[in-house]
Amino acid sequence: MASLAARLPDNAPGDFYVDRTCIDCDACRRIAPATFEEGDGHSYVARQPADEAERRRALMALVACPTASIGTAVRTNAADAAAAFPETVDENVSFCGFTAESSFGAWSYLIERPEGNVLVDSPRGAGPLLKELERRGGIETLFLTHKDDVADHEVFRKRFGCRRVLRADDVTAGTRGVERLWKGEEPERLAPDLLAIPTPGHTRGHSVLLHRDRYLFTGDHLAWSRRRGRLVAFRDACWYSWAEQIRSMERLLDYSFEWVLPGHGGWHRAASPEVMRDEVARCVEWMRAVRR
Ligand code: SF4
Repeated sequence: MASLAARLPDNAPGDFYVDRTCIDCDACRRIAPATFEEGDGHSYVARQPADEAERRRALMALVACPTASIGTAVRTNAADAAAAFPETVDENVSFCGFTAESSFGAWSYLIERPEGNVLVDSPRGAGPLLKELERRGGIETLFLTHKDDVADHEVFRKRFGCRRVLRADDVTAGTRGVERLWKGEEPERLAPDLLAIPTPGHTRGHSVLLHRDRYLFTGDHLAWSRRRGRLVAFRDACWYSWAEQIRSMERLLDYSFEWVLPGHGGWHRAASPEVMRDEVARCVEWMRAVRR
């Protein structure tokens, strides 16, 4: 719970504030950009919400914050904001909110499908989210893009009996019990509409998930940069091999998709699969240029 005593000095005067526990994960700035902005190593309230719509977005950011660093001076019931998650991104794809501190606020997604719902990376195992996922039919598969974003995977396994999927190279002590470990350099078909593609680079066992040749869930491999206005990879957060990550990015040129939905950084929809392919190719060129 956020503390008024730890309120950051750069917050705009008024009800909402960010306190000193902020880890600068960017979630609030993406969810409620009218209210939150980037400060020096943290987020802060740049402007108090101007109307009910902005207040609702600010409360959704409060709910989603992984460290409970956002507070209101006046006691507020955030139940309606909590009930807004998972929030639709497009068609059957939603953003789960409720990010986890152990995955540095990484975003996770819900894919609703008649054959069984899929969770991409683990959100926080919060009560309101679990209840809503139950109402929407539970979770059949929990796809883990890599070892950093597994968060509360055991909570979801216990609640929904879902199979967890992870590349063997990213197994750690906490994920030894995962139901489906896969190996090798070839893509793994999980269902007719779900293709797991190995993308070593950020970590050795990183992979991305392609759904309906339309949505690519990219974990920490590929994201949209608001500042640069294009697709990027995170050179400073590449823990395994930048050269491998470039090769993995090149292999994505063989696939068709319109959406990039990452764990960190912005999501992006291109005007067509052809435009997306050009944007990924541009990202590859940029990665080669920053190679070192
Ligand atoms: S969501 Fe929370 S931890 Fe993340 S930047 Fe905002 S206040 Fe900080």
